[in-house]
Amino acid sequence: HMVTVTAVHGDITRQRVDAIVNAANNAMRGGGGVDGAIHRAGGRAVLDDCIARFPNGLRTGDAGWTTAGDLPATWVIHTVGPNYAAGERDRELLESCYRRALEVADEIGARSVSFPLISAGVYAWPLNDAIDAAVTTIAKTPTRVEEVVLVSFSEDTHRRVQSQVHRLFPPPTEPGSVGQLFDRPPAQMGMRGDAYLWLALRAEFAATPLPSTWFELRPMVVQAAEGIIGAPLAHTDDPIHVPEFDPGHGMSAGNVLPSWWHQTGIPILIDRFEAAQQTNSSEPAEG
Ligand code: ADP
Repeated sequence: HMVTVTAVHGDITRQRVDAIVNAANNAMRGGGGVDGAIHRAGGRAVLDDCIARFPNGLRTGDAGWTTAGDLPATWVIHTVGPNYAAGERDRELLESCYRRALEVADEIGARSVSFPLISAGVYAWPLNDAIDAAVTTIAKTPTRVEEVVLVSFSEDTHRRVQSQVHRLFPPPTEPGSVGQLFDRPPAQMGMRGDAYLWLALRAEFAATPLPSTWFELRPMVVQAAEGIIGAPLAHTDDPIHVPEFDPGHGMSAGNVLPSWWHQTGIPILIDRFEAAQQTNSSEPAEG
């Protein structure tokens, strides 16, 4: 089976999953950020277990489990991210946190695991690279975990995580949904951000039933796109930069091209919509 990965905006201590991951430090005796929040919400039992099970703390890049105390989760998997601010800048160490945390999850039989964005807070790992390390490492680590949730505290971070998750873990679309029109990417995209927008729209419409006419479909797509990119999809050749679609390499990385949508993207969707309508109407009526 494949792991499903989703992005969530919220507080990791509220997650009802088998295990939540803590961005701990080498001492393993609590700290600030996520670490502080987890120890506060989990109570004394978490600290006692840290002391009992990790008398000498934990090495950077390694992971280990404790009870979750009063938290809704069953376990806390503690991992120590590299402290970028203090000069620990080997990305292998950051990737190791995700890999080791999933190995520990397999050891304890956790099937659902929530992660914070390790090292992206006080340890100051550059945000886009922290997101890339999280999503790509989870994608390539074999695990028996079925559900991974990437929890972001801030709205901006959440939107960035979500667009990277849609890229590597596109959610399934329902039969007869608008999302299905987006299943095959077009042979030629506009700019690099258009590929992200395509996947974001596919996810947004994954369960939305097809409307009956394309007069309804077109504004649905345009409005959703405008909501995602935060700007009007006006008829213009000027690209729109969407920071959430910019993985951090290259100047035009997050750019969306409105003219591509008007001249190519939406016409492709209308063609597919009409093809889907014909398939539906040629099917024998039920009952
Ligand atoms: P590190 O020391 O590894 O950088 P931090 O706890 O400072 O760890 O931050 C890691 C990430 O977790 C940051 O993106 C931060 O905004 C986020 N964060 C902080 N508190 C919470 C929380 N309660 N739930 C989810 N994410 C959180």
